[in-house]
Amino acid sequence: MKIIMLGAPGAGKGTQAKVIAEKFGIPSISTGDIFRANIKNGTELGMEAKKYMDQGLLVPDELTVKILLDRVAKEDCKDGYVLDGFPRNIPQAQVLDKALEEQNEKLDFAIDVEVPDEDIIRRMSGRRACAGCGATYHVEHIPPKKEGICDTCGQELVLRDDDKPETVKNRLDVYHKQTQPLIDFYEAKGILKTVDGTMDMKEVSAAIAAILQ
Ligand code: ADP
Ligand code: AMP
Repeated sequence: MKIIMLGAPGAGKGTQAKVIAEKFGIPSISTGDIFRANIKNGTELGMEAKKYMDQGLLVPDELTVKILLDRVAKEDCKDGYVLDGFPRNIPQAQVLDKALEEQNEKLDFAIDVEVPDEDIIRRMSGRRACAGCGATYHVEHIPPKKEGICDTCGQELVLRDDDKPETVKNRLDVYHKQTQPLIDFYEAKGILKTVDGTMDMKEVSAAIAAILQ
């Protein structure tokens, strides 16, 4: 099963990608997490990506596409994967399609998690991410058992640099201009499925599970 998650930043793609991944025993792959891990480790890729991420801009395709294609070529992806945050523009989607075609493969579903912009800003200011394992929480909606501490690995939870309101606004603009056109792109391919992302997290998971059955 090969699935991509679509939706605005903060729509709940990562939250749901992890649920799907667990259910189907496939990896959930976030290009944002890969960049953040590189930033944390001080790599050249991380330093370059950070320049764009801090402004809410997309990291250039030359950097992004290669790390994604390398990642999906790994052994743990042989039975499929859920992509969270890739593709984010039409050229990225075309590169992915071409790479899959060359292996006689294709995507099964593009799941669009719909949340209006006004809800997004609220979600992002409450988002807390684990600096260790990348797990995501929300201070009100999806709190950790112990405030400020990751349930999974016990490390500290932090507000992402790019979740500050001024950056979120830029990220939403970038989403509408560059990423939203992917909805029509995958609709035309007949694999688009839409879910209402404003529901409770468990209800969103149930709606996605019904699609994937
Ligand atoms: P994305 O991966 O699309 O950027 P996340 O999965 O990180 O979004 O979710 C953004 C924030 O919203 C996080 O703090 C997450 O815990 C919270 N969240 C996710 N799904 C829901 C939901 N259905 N209702 C309320 N908050 C949610
Ligand atoms: P995310 O964790 O998915 O919200 O991504 C955080 C940031 O990483 C984005 O705002 C972009 O700057 C960058 N990024 C993640 N995925 C991509 C991608 N597919 N293409 C370009 N930039 C990306």
